[in-house]
Amino acid sequence: MGANRLEMVQEARAAGLLLECRVCYSDEWLESDIIPCLGGHLFCNECVGQGTEAQVGEGRCIIKCLVPSPAASC
Ligand SMILES: [Zn+2]
Ligand SMILES: [Zn+2]
Repeated sequence: MGANRLEMVQEARAAGLLLECRVCYSDEWLESDIIPCLGGHLFCNECVGQGTEAQVGEGRCIIKCLVPSPAASC
């Protein structure tokens, strides 16, 4: 599974489809690793799992915003 994911990341990088998490700023996430908030900010599932354990549940695809900034209003 690890090698498979690596291939997917490489393919996504070649296609310019990798996404950046707004919390950890890692930019090697696949679309399937990323969860958006209502305002369209993108967060990786690792940061979502750490920051909002209570929000992660079955069928939950929109989460409370995790942007570490008071300017975020979503
Ligand atoms: Zn992250
Ligand atoms: Zn947001």
